[in-house]
Amino acid sequence: MDEMIFNTLSISAVSSAITGMMGLPSTHLAEKPLSSLLKAADYRFGREKADRVFMYNPDAIALWLFQKYTHMFEEVLLNTSLAIPLASVMPSVTPVCFATMYTGAFPDKHGITTYTKPVLKTDTVFDVLIRAGRKPAIVSTSGDSISMIFLEREMDYFIYETEGEANEKAFELIEKDKHDLIVLYNGSYDSRMHKVAPEGKEALQALSENVKTFGKISDLIKTNWTSHNCVLAFAPDHGCHEIDAGCGSHGLYMPQDINIMHFYGFYPKKS
Ligand SMILES: [Zn+2]
Repeated sequence: MDEMIFNTLSISAVSSAITGMMGLPSTHLAEKPLSSLLKAADYRFGREKADRVFMYNPDAIALWLFQKYTHMFEEVLLNTSLAIPLASVMPSVTPVCFATMYTGAFPDKHGITTYTKPVLKTDTVFDVLIRAGRKPAIVSTSGDSISMIFLEREMDYFIYETEGEANEKAFELIEKDKHDLIVLYNGSYDSRMHKVAPEGKEALQALSENVKTFGKISDLIKTNWTSHNCVLAFAPDHGCHEIDAGCGSHGLYMPQDINIMHFYGFYPKKS
């Protein structure tokens, strides 16, 4: 058998699942939500809504990487209870895919169809929260897609030079417990895999660091957000593949670039 298999559910369904779990309306252009995610939240929260969502967005973690290096994902598996194979969108590059994840719209509708990072005018999950009086925050590194395409909203942006600083800020925000939605972007796996190939030593080291960061976030949520119904996501944007000269790439319509896994953990309030 030589056929190419693509995941059947789309990352376009993540947006209205996030807003739906929080009891909020979908963005203006959102596709239908991931029903398994909504049902899992309903079940775990006893039909109450989520009031804290943490989206951990590591860049370029492919489904095949999870299949081949499953042992490296232990802290993701142990801290989540729902894993959903998803198909990213085309072209499978960072600004296009994250725009789809947070608008719920396909690229021809949200407007970023190439590797460019304009400020999105399209309605996003962040806009939905702001209209509802909730507080979203984006924590990221400067120059990266997530730091740029969602700007110009009345919300908090914490943009740093290094991933370490961004992660420390995200940890601090969990402890302060002032935001309803926190998005944390980590681009270290992507930047290293472009240089040393997806399975290069430094790339796998970055993957290991991403998983460790996710474990730390899980621990902090469990100890600091006990009065909330919390959702924690490990949610990459697209995959990657090896190219000539020991480098890595993505952007094509091929299973290695399109197929990803999302993992969701649910922590009901304790008091
Ligand atoms: Zn990316």
